[in-house]
Amino acid sequence: MIPYKLVLFDIDGTLVSLPEKAAEVVQDAMYSVLGSSYTLPYRSFSGRTDWEIFRDTVSHYGENPENHPGWTVFCNVYSDYFMQSVNSNHLVVHPGGLELLETLENDGNFLLGLLTGNIREMATFKLSLAGLADFFEFGAFGDDHWIREQLGPIAKKRAEMISGEIFTGSEIWVVGDSPRDVHTARFIEAKCIGVTNGKHSTGELLQAGADIITGHLLEIAPVMLNSR
Ligand SMILES: [Mg+2]
Repeated sequence: MIPYKLVLFDIDGTLVSLPEKAAEVVQDAMYSVLGSSYTLPYRSFSGRTDWEIFRDTVSHYGENPENHPGWTVFCNVYSDYFMQSVNSNHLVVHPGGLELLETLENDGNFLLGLLTGNIREMATFKLSLAGLADFFEFGAFGDDHWIREQLGPIAKKRAEMISGEIFTGSEIWVVGDSPRDVHTARFIEAKCIGVTNGKHSTGELLQAGADIITGHLLEIAPVMLNSR
């Protein structure tokens, strides 16, 4: 029997990118919820969960991020702002993603999931704009845990719940664009394909420990099919 494989996809910088717009919306939501003095402590969100970005911002202004009452409000405001101000014209859908997902789905030996720092609502919205949402039944998201690496076990557990299969590390691939994706893969002893669609170079991803690097999503298909 051909082993069943689990493939977990990051979203931003991997399947799609939102140049500049995402940072703008996060900042606007942060001002609205926390106040106009709460400027984000950094501009690059690469590899971070939405929850980590929120926590880092309140910590930067001397507040305790644990059980911060603004977090739930922020999620709602951020979602509303995002859906009002972002449309498909803001989104870059990286070439080959649709074909890759179709290939893996049609093959029948791959379970596809998400492993993303986006809160669930944003993940679904971004993928809907890109026409990719229907490929994913489950995932682990930036409102499940603030530490990205902790999303790995959550995604794995959900995959096992919906499929009835147990996945060992060698049966799991993580596809992502940042060193944090690689660390998340390692945390569940999975293999990692680094994609250079985001802000990180081949060198950075290799140094983090990625098994394979590619600059085009469609190149992932033969790697996956040969790994069955
Ligand atoms: Mg990413």
